[in-house]
Amino acid sequence: MSSIVFSNEIAPVSRQTFFVDVIMPVPLARLFTYRVPHELGDSVREGCRVIVPFGQRKIYTAVVARVHQTPPTAYQAKYLFECLDDAPSVLPSQIALWEWMASYYACTIGEVMQAALPAGLKISSESRLQLNPDFDIEEHIETLSDKELNLLRALQQNESLNYEEAAKILAVKHIYHILKTLIAKKAIILFEQLKDKYKPKIQRFLRLNPQFLADKEALQSLFEQLEKTPKQLNVLLQFLQLVPAHYKPETNEQGIAKKIFTEKNISQSSLQTLCKNGVFEEFEKQIPRFDFSENEEFEPITLTPLQLQTEQQIISHFEEKKIVLLRGITGSGKTEIYINLIQKILQNGQQVLFMLPEIALTAQMVLRLRKVFGEAMGIYHSRFSDNERVEVWREILSGRCRLVIGVRSSVFLPFQDLGLIIVDEEHESSYKQQDPAPRYHARDVAMILAQKQQAKTLLGSATPSVEAYFQAQTGRWGLVELLERYGDAQLPKIRFANMREEKRLKTLRENFSGTLLSALAHMKENEQQAILFQNRRGYAPALSCADCAQSPKCPYCDVSLTYHLSERLLRCHYCGHSETPPRECPACGSPKLQTVGFGTEKLEEQLLLLMPNLRVQRIDQDTTRQKNSLQQIIEDFEQYRADVLVGTQMVSKGLDFERVSLVGIFDIDRMLNFPDFRAHERTFQMGVQVSGRAGRREKQGEVIIQTNNPDQNTLQQIVRADYLAMYANEIAERQQFGYPPFTRLIKCTVRHQDNDYAAAAAQFMAEQLTAQLGKTRVLGAEPPLIERLRNQYLWVIMLKLEREGINHSAVKKYLSELIFALKNDKRYREADVVIDIDPL
Ligand code: ADP
Ligand code: ZN
Ligand code: ZN
Repeated sequence: MSSIVFSNEIAPVSRQTFFVDVIMPVPLARLFTYRVPHELGDSVREGCRVIVPFGQRKIYTAVVARVHQTPPTAYQAKYLFECLDDAPSVLPSQIALWEWMASYYACTIGEVMQAALPAGLKISSESRLQLNPDFDIEEHIETLSDKELNLLRALQQNESLNYEEAAKILAVKHIYHILKTLIAKKAIILFEQLKDKYKPKIQRFLRLNPQFLADKEALQSLFEQLEKTPKQLNVLLQFLQLVPAHYKPETNEQGIAKKIFTEKNISQSSLQTLCKNGVFEEFEKQIPRFDFSENEEFEPITLTPLQLQTEQQIISHFEEKKIVLLRGITGSGKTEIYINLIQKILQNGQQVLFMLPEIALTAQMVLRLRKVFGEAMGIYHSRFSDNERVEVWREILSGRCRLVIGVRSSVFLPFQDLGLIIVDEEHESSYKQQDPAPRYHARDVAMILAQKQQAKTLLGSATPSVEAYFQAQTGRWGLVELLERYGDAQLPKIRFANMREEKRLKTLRENFSGTLLSALAHMKENEQQAILFQNRRGYAPALSCADCAQSPKCPYCDVSLTYHLSERLLRCHYCGHSETPPRECPACGSPKLQTVGFGTEKLEEQLLLLMPNLRVQRIDQDTTRQKNSLQQIIEDFEQYRADVLVGTQMVSKGLDFERVSLVGIFDIDRMLNFPDFRAHERTFQMGVQVSGRAGRREKQGEVIIQTNNPDQNTLQQIVRADYLAMYANEIAERQQFGYPPFTRLIKCTVRHQDNDYAAAAAQFMAEQLTAQLGKTRVLGAEPPLIERLRNQYLWVIMLKLEREGINHSAVKKYLSELIFALKNDKRYREADVVIDIDPL
């Protein structure tokens, strides 16, 4: 059907005909207009999700941005299929934030929506459905239509169905309205990928075997029986204190979560015996993800006078300023101060968002906050399934849930009355989304979100980013500093292992310095624990031929393949390609292939050989792929089932282990020499953060840094934990060379399979930009450090724009016009252009 010309067959637009402009999850910079079927009438409102046809076959979930009565003039509006919501799922304030992000980050609002909505809120051609495990068909059979029942029966047979399969079973074209009512009845669940299949949350519970409650004598004789085993008796007494089964039998039916009971001061083996002998029964219960009942177990922590004073300073800064930066050294009690502030805001009836970088949002952190805020706290984490995220979304939207602890994407939640946003570890680069668009920085978006809701933002870090400290120091934000550790804990003592020297003295063993090895032995003797940090996973970053020095490269990227010993695979850490390692050098045929460099896997192996008495665990992407494996490793380490934890940056944040007295840092020189203007800042941050894992209680911890260059300035600053010296150096350099915070950067990456093609397109862009902005503001085009990724050659143009005196939105507008021109030029149109605002 021609969509441009109006024909007479189209029904005349009556006064009751409504149109909607919707946001589509596609990278096209405009809204799309659809016609609302009459039967949906006025149920379609702004912020509702609607299912719309797109192109020949596709369907999408779109969000209504505007309802109106003006038909589009350029094309005939198609009917939308279905409205998924009775009440809006998305608030006008969220759409306003999406618009801001699209314009600031130079992307489309559809791309922002795509990042914002959890997949569980989107039905697309790829969606799948499953039966809700909580739903009992027989119980509801009266309320189900024939079609609904048919579909549910089919889902009983098949684990899950996609759209087409479901439509085929029902022999109808559109099944959205059936799905909608089934979702409303909580009979089915939609999900996007197989891994997201919904699993109910099950916990193990304990109760007293009811036979002992049959009459008074039964319990009495149990007591007498246990008299000879005082430990078992104690378990029973403790149980009855928590669950007064003897005079309130209904409490015994509920029982107590086994996990909570075993945390009490009881003998675990006695409990086991009692279970085995049938005194206690174990049973499983599905527990709701949210529980808004009062939290009884809360043991309040009293802030120290210094912490109180710090909190007071934050509050008084907030009287004048919207944003406060808290620089508090590791172990100073920042988290306790956050908790106090959060309680105040919640008492006020307002909402709080507490943001953490991905790796810092561990079970340890969650447990700590659970103790205070109970089950009423929402958690928004990428390790959770779509459906769990949808639950958090709904609870926030309804206003029932007022506290969320979450990662980057939690800025997208439907808050209505935020009082405070806390961005912990503000300097962490994982707050920045690299791919795909929107390439946003969650800290910066959080500040905008807070501003739009008249909320305050508290940024916290032991090692603030140079940009943030600059804002605070120059008075635009409030600055509060807390420079003492809590209690008697002291900052660790940091020493160097001089690798050059040890090599000369022949005290190196593999990649371990003699210094570190003897510290490890000492640690083991004292029954302490150690953390070893190496920011490289896998066994070795390359294989190399001893005869011709060639290394196997990724066929798609300009990088060496990393060798993974346990899988016997070469893997590309950029594109995911893997292959079996060759037996002989692909270049010269020599069989002498050796590993070069070392990753966490190799360190683990070496350590097991060098000190076989140590129990070693490893944390990195490879060992924590499964949902709960990270938690398991942390728990094992906490329970002293391991002596040493070897890991990547995953061990550097937020972990708090009582026994850790030693931290070893490997390969720091490589980090320091990385060609990036932030290399020294990052090395300092990493060094201080990792060191912060040592000696968090009474005993002073020790840190050993292996380096060839112990006199290097930044390393010296790490030893003295001298943030201000690092800042002074860096800020002077940034000013001299015109880097942020004195400028804003925009990175344009031009990509194409053919290097010459990419280069020509990039050159063209660079010339146009230079003509427009002047030579000093345009760097490049030049190839980046890694010249080819995923089979595409890259060329980079960096724009350096001063903060004041230049219209940034005009530059972004010009940039998008330029890209448009490029796409319409047959010499360059095949090239891809990626815009990254404030790149990291
Ligand atoms: P940070 O977040 O600044 O690294 P934490 O808040 O984790 O510091 O505090 C470090 C340790 O000290 C934690 O185990 C915490 O429970 C404890 N702590 C801090 N302040 C107090 C306090 N006022 N009372 C009791 N324990 C505290
Ligand atoms: Zn060779
Ligand atoms: Zn690759």
